[in-house]
Amino acid sequence: MATEENAIRKHDLDHYASRLAPSPTGLLHLGHAATFWTAYQRALEQDGTLLLRNEDLDPQRSKQQYVDAMIEDLAWLGIAWTPPMVVQSERIPLYREAFERLLASGHAYACTCSRRELAQMVAAPHEDADDEPVYTGRCRPAEGAVPQSLAPGMNYRFRVPDGDVVRFVDCNLGPQSFTAGGDFGDFLIWRKDGLPSYQLACVVDDAAMQITEVVRGADLLKSTARQILLQRALGLPAVQYFHTPLLRDERGMRLAKRHDALAIRTLRNKGLAPGDVLCMFGA
Ligand code: GLU
Repeated sequence: MATEENAIRKHDLDHYASRLAPSPTGLLHLGHAATFWTAYQRALEQDGTLLLRNEDLDPQRSKQQYVDAMIEDLAWLGIAWTPPMVVQSERIPLYREAFERLLASGHAYACTCSRRELAQMVAAPHEDADDEPVYTGRCRPAEGAVPQSLAPGMNYRFRVPDGDVVRFVDCNLGPQSFTAGGDFGDFLIWRKDGLPSYQLACVVDDAAMQITEVVRGADLLKSTARQILLQRALGLPAVQYFHTPLLRDERGMRLAKRHDALAIRTLRNKGLAPGDVLCMFGA
């Protein structure tokens, strides 16, 4: 881990670096193309580096065919990135080291709540469909309790500082603020299958890859607040953020991977040229 620590210390904020971070659980669609095009343009404007990270931490849903497809679709769109591609499933020890540090410093605790129990804890329908419900804190130990040790087969949550307001100025959407314990609660950082959560892996990798700006969809604004708390707890450098507006279909629904009709691949197979696809989101 020493080399990664050094990489983090050498974090060169003068050199703009950003990343594309698709999960290979489906085909890239128009929404990805819009965000990734923005990321590419920003990296070009800053004479920076654009990296590609394969976020394949969901063993059930991640498929090699989608990794191959995303590489091909990016090339077809003309979005160039600097190899090598970073593959999250190959970096588990790095995430585990960060997780153990959070556990030892009392920032994390084991949660034995089942999926079913978690679902039952939510009394009211949860208003933000893009986000998870606020955890009630059922398994949260008392403040100042002795740090727990790592036990296999357990889920672990990050203890958020209740009432603290996390603020950041988004380079696209302006000032943002989210209250820990109100807008979001204690969130998963380590899963019982021995894998990190998206939040933890993302923060560890953004630091290790020396990312200076994260460009991603506005559905992840609250995750940014969570990730800022993780960065602080781990002593990692802050980064800047540029969240892109979400594309919606004609019924106002968010474009998700299930909208196969708007998959880059489908548009391409219909005979559209890359320029036609870019025009669809005003590039
Ligand atoms: N893998 C995430 C997704 O596809 C993106 C994460 C990020 O850009 O931080 O939604």
